Amino acid sequence: MREILFAYEPFIRLAAFGGIFILMAVWEFVTPRRKQGIGRSWRWPNNLGVVAVDTALVRVVFPTTAVVLAILAEARGFGLFNMIALPTWIAVVSSVVILDLAIYLQHVLFHAVPALWRLHRMHHADLEIDVSTGLRFHPIEIFLSMLIKFAVVAALGAPALAVLIFEVLLNATSIFNHANVRIPLGFDRGLRWLMVTPDMHRVHHSILAGETNSNFGFNLPWWDRLFGTYRAQPAAGHEGMTIGIEQFRDSRELGLDRMLVQPFRGDAGRYPLGHREANP
Ligand SMILES: [Zn+2]
Repeated sequence: MREILFAYEPFIRLAAFGGIFILMAVWEFVTPRRKQGIGRSWRWPNNLGVVAVDTALVRVVFPTTAVVLAILAEARGFGLFNMIALPTWIAVVSSVVILDLAIYLQHVLFHAVPALWRLHRMHHADLEIDVSTGLRFHPIEIFLSMLIKFAVVAALGAPALAVLIFEVLLNATSIFNHANVRIPLGFDRGLRWLMVTPDMHRVHHSILAGETNSNFGFNLPWWDRLFGTYRAQPAAGHEGMTIGIEQFRDSRELGLDRMLVQPFRGDAGRYPLGHREANP
């Protein structure tokens, strides 16, 4: 099993990524949720440019993937699930859920600490939200995310299969829940109990700080309800709401060069969680 995972890992990732991206892009085109003021022709090449920079960075900087790290931890008996005897399926399901909780907490942390918000706000500075936004993260945020993920995978002794499921799922749900797609409201309400939907996550991309600092979940929707960070809908409605943050409102800011230096420009702004009057 391990050998199969190891051999096919890049293929599984690419197929899932490409498949869901094309599917959601077509869905957006057919039934868009919001009319976009700034079209794909300017945003997409730049947002996908960030993906290229991120991918190159991860390849160059990290000697291994999280899946390979999980295989190494298992071989050496390192980490919680490698020390206690549990049925494999329990270890796999628990690991996926715990990794998802870790990503939720990491996301809250990136909204709470001003220095980390500077990195994460590049994701929020997109002036529209669609499938390409789901991939737009600053390379330094990607680097820190990898370190956190490696630490959680090692400490947990997560099975390699769980890590692969989690990573493919996270990539797919991030593309899905950033998509500018129209889903019938009744169906969305039900689906929200199982996964984060585009309408639920769009609230998180509102320019209003109180809305930005809600709906942190990417994958499982339960954490926001459990920790009190859930907001059902944006105050101005999905069509009326403004996407982005108060800084970087010029469309030139959507260029790859500008995006990469955004963390180092201006002040941290009013968004970090400790800024009480910004989070009513
Ligand atoms: Zn965020």
